[in-house]
Amino acid sequence: MHILVSNDDGYLAPGLRALADAMRPFGEVTVVAPEQNCSGASNSLTLTRPLSVRNAENGYLFVNGTPTDCVHIALTGLLDQRPDLVVSGINDGQNMGDDTIYSGTVAAAMEGYLFGLPAIAFSMVQKGHAHLESAARVCAGIVERFRTGSLPAPFLLNVNIPDRPYSQLRGLACTRLGKRHPSEPVVRTVSPRGDTIYWVGAAGEAADASPGTDFHATAAGHVSVTPLQIDLTHTGLLESVSQWLGQGRL
Ligand code: MN
Repeated sequence: MHILVSNDDGYLAPGLRALADAMRPFGEVTVVAPEQNCSGASNSLTLTRPLSVRNAENGYLFVNGTPTDCVHIALTGLLDQRPDLVVSGINDGQNMGDDTIYSGTVAAAMEGYLFGLPAIAFSMVQKGHAHLESAARVCAGIVERFRTGSLPAPFLLNVNIPDRPYSQLRGLACTRLGKRHPSEPVVRTVSPRGDTIYWVGAAGEAADASPGTDFHATAAGHVSVTPLQIDLTHTGLLESVSQWLGQGRL
């Protein structure tokens, strides 16, 4: 099996190394990751300047672009063959509920999915990677399940792993995305040069963390596995909007 590995925390992130190492027993591993931390990059593609792919000493390839750039370049010209799987992470921090809209970790996997490949995004629920080996073991277990199982491909899975010793994890749970409250207010401060500057505030607390959600599962110590899709059409509103438009006169 050939596995393409990327992330959004950058090619030097410990979570990337842990994931790449965990994938190695499955066969060939190619790492293409952003040069810089691109957390929050979502699905952005760099269209206003050229991109460079460079070799790191450890064999990883790094790109002066976004997570989506990395997977896009890998799949459309860099790799000789299509990989069998795209994995992203292990992110330093959770990507649950509304986070998935902003996440570069999810976006890297999503780019693989858009190209018709099975893809999995891995994140740790708490920041700091206190039990990174435990999370890497979970990643390997899920990829082993993919290798030997029969989940119809392509698919896009969003996996969030509680930061706990392996023995204290309570197994895998299939979940739906929860919902967050609106994010905390922007933080306004003054730069050393006297300009007013803003830091985007923290993500909001969970608003829907009811049973069945990613928030609920991880709070109880489960590894959350959410199948994602890309079609943003609000099917439930099609009828109402259609009636609202009436004859469609301009
Ligand atoms: Mn990140």
